[in-house]
Amino acid sequence: MARTDPLQKYRDKRHFGVTPEPEGGTKPAAGGQPIFVIQKHDATRLHYDFRLEVEGVLKSWAVPKGPSTDPAVKRLAMPTEDHPMGYAGFEGTIPEGEYGAGTVIVWDRGTYRNLSEHKGEALSMEAALEEGRVKVWLEGEKLRGGYALARTRGTDGRPGWLLIKLKDEHADTADDLLARRPESVLTGRTLEQVASPPASPRKRARPVSTRKAAKPK
Ligand code: MN
Repeated sequence: MARTDPLQKYRDKRHFGVTPEPEGGTKPAAGGQPIFVIQKHDATRLHYDFRLEVEGVLKSWAVPKGPSTDPAVKRLAMPTEDHPMGYAGFEGTIPEGEYGAGTVIVWDRGTYRNLSEHKGEALSMEAALEEGRVKVWLEGEKLRGGYALARTRGTDGRPGWLLIKLKDEHADTADDLLARRPESVLTGRTLEQVASPPASPRKRARPVSTRKAAKPK
């Protein structure tokens, strides 16, 4: 039986040529390690898209409140469609009327290690996703250490997942990382700066001194 294309849903939702999002693409260099990326997305509701490389695609969850560094905090993570590897480098504004309209920045990115296990047995990422019990060690620029993604019953029959910081030396109950580090790890820009970039010098009005002093009569 032919394997279904994991990116079909992703493509079906988008009009390439209208949206600047990539149709495919390759992952950034990561020394042979799998990558993760977290994108801050100012859509209808601001959220953070948490993505893990598994089997050549980015498995994705939308996290409305974003990740926490506090192990006591459980953050809702709603599964979304698999994204292509090239999405890990995407920043820009998805136009009005398109799926996910709004501005996106790469809030954090790095590599990860799979720590998933069940009753002492290591689980592959595929098996861990199937079981709904994923544990990863993140080596990002902002997020470090262990995180769990656990599937719960959710609400209205839709599977809900929770993103939870694991207890380790990188846990911090006081750090307000989302507020302290709002910028892109790729360009240092904030969402607002990507949404309305400063006018380029060419487009600026010429200095007054070069204009003819036209006196209205
Ligand atoms: Mn999103």
